[in-house]
Amino acid sequence: MFKKFTTRIVLAVSMILILQTSASAQRVRRVLFPTPEQFIASAEAQRIIEDASAFVGNDLQREYSMVCSSTGPERAALARQRAGLPPIENYTVEPTQVFDNMWYIGPTSQGAFVITTNEGLILIDTLNSTEEARDILIPSMQKAGLDPTQIKYIVLSHGHPGQTDHTGGANYLQSLYGAKVAMGKPDWDATLPFQSPDRPLANRDIDIITGSTLTLGDTTLSFALEPGHSPGSLAMFIPVVWRGEPTMVMLLAGAMQTPDREAYDALEHIMNDIAKPRNVRGVLNTHAGIFQDTLEDMEVIRNNPDGPNPLLYGQDQAQRYWSMIVECARARVIALEDATD
Ligand SMILES: [Zn+2]
Repeated sequence: MFKKFTTRIVLAVSMILILQTSASAQRVRRVLFPTPEQFIASAEAQRIIEDASAFVGNDLQREYSMVCSSTGPERAALARQRAGLPPIENYTVEPTQVFDNMWYIGPTSQGAFVITTNEGLILIDTLNSTEEARDILIPSMQKAGLDPTQIKYIVLSHGHPGQTDHTGGANYLQSLYGAKVAMGKPDWDATLPFQSPDRPLANRDIDIITGSTLTLGDTTLSFALEPGHSPGSLAMFIPVVWRGEPTMVMLLAGAMQTPDREAYDALEHIMNDIAKPRNVRGVLNTHAGIFQDTLEDMEVIRNNPDGPNPLLYGQDQAQRYWSMIVECARARVIALEDATD
């Protein structure tokens, strides 16, 4: 009896080890962008980013330096590490009403957005864990006057096998409030087999694919898959209102990572066929600071709530920004292809 039991434990442990090993091997093998050397060595890539520099103009040079680098925009923590700078302090941000119908909630390292509608709340991402959902997300929402029991949908921007930085609180919030949980179909497929028994993922309620929409009351979000960072990273199109004026922003969960042509084609479609025609005016991510200094922007909004919203670009400026994203992603794919030729 005891022996049988031990054998089972050994088997279970080896299975977990095999799963973990293949998950970490997958992570190690995936090349998401060219090295700085490969990027510089590709004459075609360099020509594209020089052209982009000319058409983006002076008002988007900060964005250019992030979007048109060899890595593309990346988490502030990673960028600082790469530059040899000390990490930024992780603290819980004062809940910020980034738009009339949208709040940022959570720590500086990764947060969540809450979208308010006339029939309840949509939560985008859930922080790292049950503990963070319980001790940071819920109290911050309450502080902002948002009733967590009104969360009807949870949209997970993406997930990685064995990693819970956006999905960790979903199971807890779903069981507390009965919210339906949505994620990109490929990321459900990839992450569910790797959930650990002590940190289970949420129940799979809704699979999102390109063209999916989600409506709650007066608000409809629409989606496209943006593979690269993970196979099911989402691009979300969110109708927002700023001081009574309706406009549209997008959340790019995959942070413009395009390791291959398929990922590039998806990003190109998102920018040229959706973002530009719909007049999207801003780009967000639940890791504050990937695309612009969102922490500083949120401080500006809190200090000057009647001023212009720094998260929104001008109409023409936004169009140039989306073109720059496409061109510089193309430069990175070409540099990667040149490096492997
Ligand atoms: Zn990720």
